[in-house]
Amino acid sequence: MPEASLIERDRGLLWHPYAPLDGHPPYAVRGANGTKLSLTGSDGRSFEALDAMSSWWSAIHGYRNPTLDAALVEQSGRFSHVMFGGLTHEPAVRLAEQLTEMTGLDHVFFADSGSVSVEVALKLAVQYQLGQHQLGRGRPGRNRFLALRGGYHGDTFAAMGVCDPVDGMHSAFPANIAQQLFLPRPPAAHLVNGTLVSDAESVSRWIAVLEETVRSHSNELAAIIVEPVVQGAGGMFFYAPEALTAARRVANEHGLLLIVDEIATGFGRTGKLFASQWADVAPDIMCVGKALTGGYLSLAAMLCSARVAAVVTESPLRALLHGPTFMANPLACAVASASMDLLAGGTWQQQVAGILQSLEQALAPAMELESVREVRVLGAVGVVELHVPVDVPAVTAAALDHGVWVRPFRNLIYTMPPFISTPHDVATIGAGICAAASQVHG
Ligand SMILES: *Cc1c(COP(=O)(O)O)cnc(C)c1O
Repeated sequence: MPEASLIERDRGLLWHPYAPLDGHPPYAVRGANGTKLSLTGSDGRSFEALDAMSSWWSAIHGYRNPTLDAALVEQSGRFSHVMFGGLTHEPAVRLAEQLTEMTGLDHVFFADSGSVSVEVALKLAVQYQLGQHQLGRGRPGRNRFLALRGGYHGDTFAAMGVCDPVDGMHSAFPANIAQQLFLPRPPAAHLVNGTLVSDAESVSRWIAVLEETVRSHSNELAAIIVEPVVQGAGGMFFYAPEALTAARRVANEHGLLLIVDEIATGFGRTGKLFASQWADVAPDIMCVGKALTGGYLSLAAMLCSARVAAVVTESPLRALLHGPTFMANPLACAVASASMDLLAGGTWQQQVAGILQSLEQALAPAMELESVREVRVLGAVGVVELHVPVDVPAVTAAALDHGVWVRPFRNLIYTMPPFISTPHDVATIGAGICAAASQVHG
């Protein structure tokens, strides 16, 4: 079995995400096509599994998508990469035009990963506040951030600093992470007949805390950063859109910028093209990544409004102080453009609505399980929350036996299938998740 020996060669050689070098052996990928992964385990057993994870939110159009494959091949026939310092190219300009059109924002900075785009967003917010001060319009020293408990914004130091301070690995790096301010998690929201509904009184209380926090710290705050409406890696949690609307209003009142991190939620995943649209909020700064290239290559973008960029341009610094080597990689931009074209076709809306319906049905049986605390669905995202931490290797293996690839964390077994998943695919995913939860946790 060449794949089994591949897993042997991997062990102790390669780090995997948040895993020890001698952790549970990974599965080897033999191929990926459409919604399916072909996997081999360390015992030599092979599986055909539906990818319930879209490779961490990214493979929205599925694997080996002919349109994306063609875009990649075509661009590689022209050139694969050139520096972006002093040079430009069609794939970058075209993608920037598409993104500004889709988001209503005006300017684009291409980064090579989501975390880096968050770093750039935070830098821009600080440079904006500094610029305001230098132009005689603002106060000095506005360089801290207000973030949400339960949030996740990436793994680099500044991004980690705005992740949940308890779950966000801060304790391992106390000397390296700047202390930011945090608001409690906004009240939960549940989808009822296509609307996100939450407890009005809890929402008012939360907004009062937001207002008080910003009022007492506005001298030092540069921006509010949130994942709009859906918190992903911090707990697969859906919160009241009213909280986002209030954050927009309070940011305006106190001269703060609003940064929405749409890296997980962007490009249709929650049932809106961008999750901020659940609250009809226009951010000053937006980060996108993950599904940007349909999961083909690492690319992210930071977008901002003309008003914010103008302050930086007019300030003594003039430039945004960042510039990665692989900025606006042409291959990644070309594939992303093709993915944007697919989204512009509009079929994602029916696809996501269909997945929502199928997920609601397919995950309903989980509610009967003793181990399950809650089942929640929004757009093409389905979450089964247990009372206990998931036995990840056992649940992964049990789901694979039912033909489904999942990657649970903490007490969460969740799915965000590729948009091209059929009702039958989603039924299989739901059944696999329910069966795995039941077999392993009862
Ligand atoms: C994944 C993620 C990031 C980090 O993106 P990377 O490409 O992994 O660096 C940041 N914010 C959110 C909301 C994410 O889901």
